Amino acid sequence: MRYPFQLQLRDKDFVPPRCPREECPAHQLGTPFPWTYRGTFYRKVDGLDVQRFQCLTCRRSFSTQTFRTDYRLRRPETVLPNFVAANSKTTLRKMGRNYELSRSHVARRQKLLATHARRFHEHRLQLARARGGLGSRFQFDELESYEQHRKLKPLTGCVAIEVETGFIVHTDVETLPARKPLKKGEAAILKRIEAVEGVRRSGSRQAVQRTVEALGRFARAGEVKVTTDKKSSYCTALEREFGDRLKHTRIDGRRERGNRNPLFPINHTLARLRDLVSRLVRQTWAAAKKRERLADHIAITTGFRNYVDGWRSEPAERQRVSAAQVLGLATRRYTPQEYLYWLDPLCLAA
Ligand SMILES: [Zn+2]
Repeated sequence: MRYPFQLQLRDKDFVPPRCPREECPAHQLGTPFPWTYRGTFYRKVDGLDVQRFQCLTCRRSFSTQTFRTDYRLRRPETVLPNFVAANSKTTLRKMGRNYELSRSHVARRQKLLATHARRFHEHRLQLARARGGLGSRFQFDELESYEQHRKLKPLTGCVAIEVETGFIVHTDVETLPARKPLKKGEAAILKRIEAVEGVRRSGSRQAVQRTVEALGRFARAGEVKVTTDKKSSYCTALEREFGDRLKHTRIDGRRERGNRNPLFPINHTLARLRDLVSRLVRQTWAAAKKRERLADHIAITTGFRNYVDGWRSEPAERQRVSAAQVLGLATRRYTPQEYLYWLDPLCLAA
């Protein structure tokens, strides 16, 4: 039973950080944002009242709900389980079956989670940049995967980390050409595929280029130390970006793996991604159907690793601290609920 004089406000002390409409000038950071309260409405789903506001720049009204990840969702309760599944090697199909959700529902949730993850990460990176950068020691490398067909439609994923914390700075997914030599039947299939999709080229150089540019944006001033394997395109891209500031260490990729290898941090990050992201598991039925969806999935897990997961699994106290926290980009290790609550990253204090 509801008593009209006991308002039970959802998100009680919420103060809107900006106008939620992207077209409005008051949406831009650093622009004044005059607003006023505009009543409440009753929300049937949870029986709580929701505060409404009005932007005095564009005169449009909105509510606390407008800033939330579950804004306009008919099934808000499926966001969290989908986030958990996306970061524990669970396929879309299996997730759907476990929770009696359609595969298309799970796919929509992954899209929403990827949008959330990208906005959140971009916001924290900009914050790091405003504070003078997030580090000066980095490593990056590529991992191989595929969409639909392992030999005919391979993919490369470029991943760059800050070395001390393992914070994932940038990820990028691009196509690779078919793996030759092809059997007769495969060559015929490739022909059919290329008739529709065009000749499949290597996008590795572009992925590396964008990755190095990202490092350029978020590295501290002064010397930048980057460790990679001996692929020559890495050298070119790094030298172009950093010039004299660069201290590049190149490690032979054939060198024994394990924690004495200088590339251990990035190798370990890639191994972890393969362990968390169902689409990246080796010898799997779960490989990506589309590279855009693999990129989404990696974005979701990047958010999980940086802000929600412990930055190291050993010793135990490091599990309680996230990589973002070590870098000063988060006040604490967020619970999945906290991390996912707001779609606008400004709503969660850094
Ligand atoms: Zn506005």
